[in-house]
Amino acid sequence: MQIIRSVGELTDYVAMQKNHHHAIGFVPTMGALHAGHISLVERAVRDNEVTIVSVFVNPTQFNNPSDLATYPRQEEEDFRMLAEAGVSAVFAPTVSEMYPSGTAREHEYDLGSAAEVMEGKYRPGHFQGVAQVVHRLFELVRPDRAYFGEKDFQQIAVIRNMVESEHVDVEIIACPIRRGADGLALSSRNALLSEEQRRRAPGIYAALSESVEYARTHTVRQTHEMVVERINAIPEMRVEYYEIVDGRTLMPVEEWSESDFVVGCITVYNGEVRLIDNIRYK
Ligand code: AMP
Repeated sequence: MQIIRSVGELTDYVAMQKNHHHAIGFVPTMGALHAGHISLVERAVRDNEVTIVSVFVNPTQFNNPSDLATYPRQEEEDFRMLAEAGVSAVFAPTVSEMYPSGTAREHEYDLGSAAEVMEGKYRPGHFQGVAQVVHRLFELVRPDRAYFGEKDFQQIAVIRNMVESEHVDVEIIACPIRRGADGLALSSRNALLSEEQRRRAPGIYAALSESVEYARTHTVRQTHEMVVERINAIPEMRVEYYEIVDGRTLMPVEEWSESDFVVGCITVYNGEVRLIDNIRYK
């Protein structure tokens, strides 16, 4: 596996692969890799001749400075996992390599109404930062296919909107959420949980998955309340939002009959650690 630090090396590497007509699969990550990331990587390795993974903690998508400061980093371990998964090259630049003229955004991306709700509302600027870094990475890597996890359900919709508004020629592939045996969605931020918080964290998915059965005999509003009450009853947990939305537009639904694709998206503070998850109702 080639370890690439500079934009120049990366563009040379990509040019060489393009000359050989190799299909390029790309998985953008912020590192602190776990089996969720590796499931995306394995899919990319299966689908493409060449797989490039980026490991870059992008400062422009953090609206909370302490979240950025405490974000877990474990580069050597990440590289070992990626090499083992059959990755061709990892791109791990510094912040100044990615943003030579500073991190200020040069332009506002058109990300559609999907970027205004949920994460867009609670993390102002977050999706603009995501769009900025992913667009830049797409320009450098020029992937045929790019892989994203459904754990960040809203992010996929926003990336699709960015790809459309910026006319990027790439296929966006959504991959299912990987969970631990106890149901907790794998996340780099899980490493920041205390032992107690980690022990209680599966309560989020337990409430979500129970609510699928509950939803068969209850309204959207009742199901929403059940999930929020159940999770808020767990010590140290506080639901920031729970929204039951149309899986395509991400706009809230009021009746189950309104859409054939309904997803519940949740954000929970477990102590200071902000966790997200989602569940499909229909
Ligand atoms: P991150 O490093 O958190 O920015 O995540 C990089 C990519 O991995 C994103 O597309 C995430 O949606 C995806 N990802 C993170 N956790 C999981 C998981 N538990 N299952 C599937 N994909 C995931």
